[in-house]
Amino acid sequence: MASILIVEDEPSMQLGLKDNLELEGYAVTLASDGEEGLVKIKKNKFDLVLLDVMLPKLSGFDVCKAARTAGISTPIILLTARGEEIDKILGLEFGADDYITKPFSLRELLARIKAILRRSQSVVSTETLSTSIGRLKVDFNAFYAEENGVEIKLSHKEFEILAYLQQNKNQVVTRYDLLEKVWGYDEQPTTRTVDNFIVRLRQKIEINPNQPKVILTVHGTGYKMVV
Ligand code: CA
Repeated sequence: MASILIVEDEPSMQLGLKDNLELEGYAVTLASDGEEGLVKIKKNKFDLVLLDVMLPKLSGFDVCKAARTAGISTPIILLTARGEEIDKILGLEFGADDYITKPFSLRELLARIKAILRRSQSVVSTETLSTSIGRLKVDFNAFYAEENGVEIKLSHKEFEILAYLQQNKNQVVTRYDLLEKVWGYDEQPTTRTVDNFIVRLRQKIEINPNQPKVILTVHGTGYKMVV
């Protein structure tokens, strides 16, 4: 049974989500503000977090950023309000895995949850051994990366991008492939989001991030991992 943490301050929303997710067979834990949410994310290992953006004490962005900084790679779906276009982009850059705009249908939310859980399980099952990628040794199974024995923190999304590039090594992967396969929705935030993730990944894996030798840019198209 997958476990889900719901961080939401609006009581009716919180209870509605809880009831429906429990009906679907998920184990649900609740938090009512950002601080409480972050404490619970750090203390327990959830399979997924549903994180409202507008929260008392700490915003959903702050929670997301703090969790990733602490090396926690639990998938996060942000709950954003209508008209907060910028939130979606920002949220993904802060390390969220997906977002859903309120008001959303239960069916849509369940589909997103299932897709994320399926993806995080499939990434886990594709690789079992550590692989050398640039400066890093990456264990996709344990979501662990290191350089010369020192852990290098990668977000869940960064692991997924690396895993996808690795599965398609020496081939051109378009930005749209990455958006579809890694982010997994047709409603693309922007290909710039992909580029920003690649810039950050290069800083972690390339010897000289300005002259990449591992993740190459294929001009006007996308990227190619050379291994
Ligand atoms: Ca709220």
